[in-house]
Amino acid sequence: MTTRLITIDDAQARNASRKEELTATHLRDLKPRLGISQCLLGDTVRYDGGHKRDVFLTDVLAPFVEWLPVCPEVEAGLGTPREAMHLAGDPDAPQLLTIHTHIDHTTALRAFSQHRVQELQVSDLDGYIFKKSSPSCGVYRVKVYTEKGQPSKQGTGIFSSAFQQAFPLIPVEEEGRLSDAPIRENFIERIFCYRRWKTLFEHHRISRGAIVQFHTRHKYLLLTHSQSHYHELGRLIAKAGQYTPGDLASRYGPLFMDALKIKATVRKHVNVLQHLAGHFKNQLSPVERAELKETIQDYHQHLTPLAVPLTLIKHYVRILAVPYLVDQVYLNPHPKELMLRNHV
Ligand code: SF4
Repeated sequence: MTTRLITIDDAQARNASRKEELTATHLRDLKPRLGISQCLLGDTVRYDGGHKRDVFLTDVLAPFVEWLPVCPEVEAGLGTPREAMHLAGDPDAPQLLTIHTHIDHTTALRAFSQHRVQELQVSDLDGYIFKKSSPSCGVYRVKVYTEKGQPSKQGTGIFSSAFQQAFPLIPVEEEGRLSDAPIRENFIERIFCYRRWKTLFEHHRISRGAIVQFHTRHKYLLLTHSQSHYHELGRLIAKAGQYTPGDLASRYGPLFMDALKIKATVRKHVNVLQHLAGHFKNQLSPVERAELKETIQDYHQHLTPLAVPLTLIKHYVRILAVPYLVDQVYLNPHPKELMLRNHV
């Protein structure tokens, strides 16, 4: 990094730096609450008396979230150990059968699932991590067997299916997919965004001003996901005065969470990085401008991770105290200790 050639206002820079520290503390305090398939935490609840402890979840993510573990099969009374089960029949309405004795547990598990998701209504969850491939917990491509014993990967676990129907806004993922860096970064970004969104309702009565401010802080983050959602949400916020605060929230929240589901790509990040740089590039020396441009290009060409240009941009936002950018969630969407942007 080159030596700064321009004069900066020390007090403003200190303020920006303080704001960044506060953001980091705020992120640590935010602690999203996640439902989780209990076997992923190392509890011996699997059909064979074992577990599927996931080290990323238990050792890396755990300090930053609060878990709410659920094992649907044990809670439904099937005991441990128990005979292994699989899904069979119609992938849209599968049966849950034991593999060897063909005992049908569909009704018991469906009834349990309906009851448990009702209970979870008051649990204030911000996300859920399900065990992949499980006939109860799997979300994607769970095997469903035909009468002839042929598997097709088209099903969803009985409990996870009931959960997703009851909570369409809550981000869900499988532990297997979380080993993919962009999916991991996206999921963790979404759970922190959802927590932040719900915080608007917790500490004070929801106001239109709070929603407008929320939108302003998330603008660049939204742009890395979907331009069309960004514009639609912008139009909604522009007409905020026409709605009651509750009505505005019920329109804004689902659209906002939908936007975040759309994959952020390198190209979209580059576009946002260039927008951010546009806010302060006239305050940089020619050497600094060239260095920043090259750093963004390197990221564009997959030579460096997103963390590299972002670190440089955050440095300038801090020392130049760029007012509009200091509060942008895009710069600090999740705890830095997770180092998620070192891998995307
Ligand atoms: S996958 Fe789900 S049902 Fe199976 S052991 Fe884990 S938590 Fe229990």
